[in-house]
Amino acid sequence: MDVNEPIMAAFPIAKRLWNAIVNKKGLPDPEEVSRIIEEIGLRNLYKDEGIALFRNRYVVALLIPRKNMIVIDFISASGELSDALELVAYYDKEIECYVIEIIPANELEYEENLGIEPVIIDAKTFELKSYPVLGEFEVGRKVKLKIDSYTFKLWRESGKLNVCPVCGGELRWKKEKAVCLDCGIEVIISEER
Ligand SMILES: [Zn+2]
Repeated sequence: MDVNEPIMAAFPIAKRLWNAIVNKKGLPDPEEVSRIIEEIGLRNLYKDEGIALFRNRYVVALLIPRKNMIVIDFISASGELSDALELVAYYDKEIECYVIEIIPANELEYEENLGIEPVIIDAKTFELKSYPVLGEFEVGRKVKLKIDSYTFKLWRESGKLNVCPVCGGELRWKKEKAVCLDCGIEVIISEER
């Protein structure tokens, strides 16, 4: 797994948080969230009064635990804000679901996630009620998003196989892999985790 940009941290963390919510039957505590952030290769630099700071060479993450809510802000270590993201996980009383959203910083003002499919988990049955396409990234000649076959199955059910899970652009499939005509990312189905 490569974590060279905020999105490359947010996707695998969202996927692990989803597992944690299902296993714990509730939102994980800040210690567990910290462990998840470290698991994907970010180092904990600082922790005080509930706030924790993490980084690797390319990405800085700030964990801000709030009551009944997990907030993680991601920015490039270069300080560049254009690809900054916020990940929020919370219990939504109205729909009685846990929700994990990844919101690009430039969409925060709309208070709506325009691109990335949120994870929505029924708070009673812990079944999934959305079609998130989350995976791990690999940086080579092209940036690849590797998803497992379970994720692919859900994605196919959603009927949105032609929509890029990262930018919402148009995907072209060729056998087992797809390329986004807008952001250039390659999506591959891989069992390797
Ligand atoms: Zn794209």
